[in-house]
Amino acid sequence: MFVVWKGKRLVAVLLLLIVAQLALMAFLIAENLSVKNTNLIDFTVVLDAGHGGIDGGVVGVDGTKESSLNLAYAETLGEIFQTAGFNVVYTRKGEGGLYGLPTKGFKQRDMLERKRIIDEADPNLMISIHMNKFGESYRSGPQVFFQDDKDDGRDLAESIQRVFNEFTGKARQALGGDFFVCRETDCPAVIVECGFLSNPQECAELQTEQYRNKVCQQIFNGTMLYLYGG
Ligand SMILES: [Zn+2]
Repeated sequence: MFVVWKGKRLVAVLLLLIVAQLALMAFLIAENLSVKNTNLIDFTVVLDAGHGGIDGGVVGVDGTKESSLNLAYAETLGEIFQTAGFNVVYTRKGEGGLYGLPTKGFKQRDMLERKRIIDEADPNLMISIHMNKFGESYRSGPQVFFQDDKDDGRDLAESIQRVFNEFTGKARQALGGDFFVCRETDCPAVIVECGFLSNPQECAELQTEQYRNKVCQQIFNGTMLYLYGG
């Protein structure tokens, strides 16, 4: 069941989370500990930039490749998690795919390699980053997906979607479905479609550093809401 949170309560929780994050960082600085690139919390997040290589994903109205944007968003999100002390593992850190040679069956090999990396990392959470496309150009805004029969993934997806909705003003629900990368992952796993490349305005916005930082911060805040929001 989808629970709609009152806006003020959500803002209060998010403010508390940000204060807690700042307090942690202040403590670490006071203790002369390095905040960046340090696994301070025994908690691993796998960030999966969708597509790559000959599989560019969807193509934006201006020719933008989804795979490149996914990579940029995964890296920015990873920096936010690492700064907060989380351990981050990426399924890919380059533009290439994970399939080896670009021959028949590459997509399946690519997906199996993602599963192998996720299994090896044995993470606490997995977030797969994608960009959306729709036949009509008007549709916009981020959308979170989860594996239908997995309640922990649903909870994580709903928390992230709540934070997105707070900023977009949309009443969008996290959506269930059957997705290899979520189905085959043991921990809470979601797919975040950050926006629509079929919407000219959003396609342009998604390519700016400012908007990327904003969306990634919202994904992080939604994850904190899932972990600590009660
Ligand atoms: Zn995609």
